[in-house]
Amino acid sequence: MNATGNDVQRPLELGIMFTHRCPIACRHCGILSGPDNFDSMAMELAERCITEAASLDPKPATIVFTGGEPMMYPHHLERLLGVANLLGFATRVITNGFWGRNQATGRRILYRLQLAGLDSLNFSADKYHLEFLPAEVFRRAIEIAWEAGFPVIVNTVLNMPGDPVALFSQLYGIPTDKIRLFDEDEFIRQVATDTVPSELTHMVNLSFGRLVGLGRAAEYPEEHYRSELATYSYTPCQEVVNRPVIYPDGSFQACCCAGGKIASFTVGNVRERSLADLFDEMRMRTHFRFINQFGPRALHEAIAEMSPERSCAPDGYASICDACVAATKGLCAKEVDARLDHWLLKRFLEKDEISAGSGSRPPELAERDDESVAAVDFLDASRRLAASTEGMKMFHRIT
Ligand code: SF4
Ligand code: SF4
Repeated sequence: MNATGNDVQRPLELGIMFTHRCPIACRHCGILSGPDNFDSMAMELAERCITEAASLDPKPATIVFTGGEPMMYPHHLERLLGVANLLGFATRVITNGFWGRNQATGRRILYRLQLAGLDSLNFSADKYHLEFLPAEVFRRAIEIAWEAGFPVIVNTVLNMPGDPVALFSQLYGIPTDKIRLFDEDEFIRQVATDTVPSELTHMVNLSFGRLVGLGRAAEYPEEHYRSELATYSYTPCQEVVNRPVIYPDGSFQACCCAGGKIASFTVGNVRERSLADLFDEMRMRTHFRFINQFGPRALHEAIAEMSPERSCAPDGYASICDACVAATKGLCAKEVDARLDHWLLKRFLEKDEISAGSGSRPPELAERDDESVAAVDFLDASRRLAASTEGMKMFHRIT
């Protein structure tokens, strides 16, 4: 999944990474899932997480079951969907569609999950999945999903330039007039106003991103289609904080893409602390709020400015997520927040210089004026957060 813009506020979701087990072992899998990886979350822990999530303020709108391949455990999933449903959550399952291998079994599993309270499905499919799951398995799975009335949203990874619809059509043998690009902001508005058009349940709604060079993907650098940092936009990312995920071992990750691999994205563990406590800490972290407000490219540049030894990778990045994780790789949460706090303070002080009306600001610094204004807003928001959350002293730490 890749960074997304912030013109529509993402509804809060909580991911339960129920298992790392998967019937296939894609080369680009960031979490090393496969048939022999048996790491799964204990049912008691999964149920407790969902129950605790119901008391959060704000309460997440959706519980997302992900993996690995959660549909390898349909009975567990059925029970957890039931718990989530009873507590008033919408639900979603992320799947590679392996259950399309057999039509009768696939239908039985999906209809049972639907009865248990499954609201929506997201598929993952691309050239890497295709090395293990033939196109007809995927086509059969989406036919079953359409039959059951689910919108078919497909996340696909591209590692080359080109038209995503044409490339996907070619890979999976699906006509281009059955594929449309998925506009998540539009979909969120439609769901909120109950105006989801019927074509969504008869089309492949394609969401595309690029590789993140973590996990097994790191072993295949030749697959990384890289671009220089300067070619990526400054678009903020709303995934982090709005879509945290709990790993099978209970570790609470602020974002699914970097979770589990990049230390600074791990907030804590639900086996040791309450979910409410972890959410509070996540919301306070400068690192995540910075990505929400300024975006991953600005994050990379700010960290590099404060630690010049961490310069850009000369051959660029495979995706904006790749740049985002590289920005803080090897740093712990405190080190990341301290560098960003200092960057914000630096811009804050520059704003004072601007206000003092020096009038002779060098052109190379003039372009920082917008950043300085944004830094002041950020620090104001920090002050409000610190005032509203007991024990959180971020603002006082930096001023
Ligand atoms: S990318 Fe998805 S389908 Fe592929 S091995 Fe990983 S979890 Fe399984
Ligand atoms: S890795 Fe960074 S850019 Fe990608 S989704 Fe996570 S926070 Fe956003």
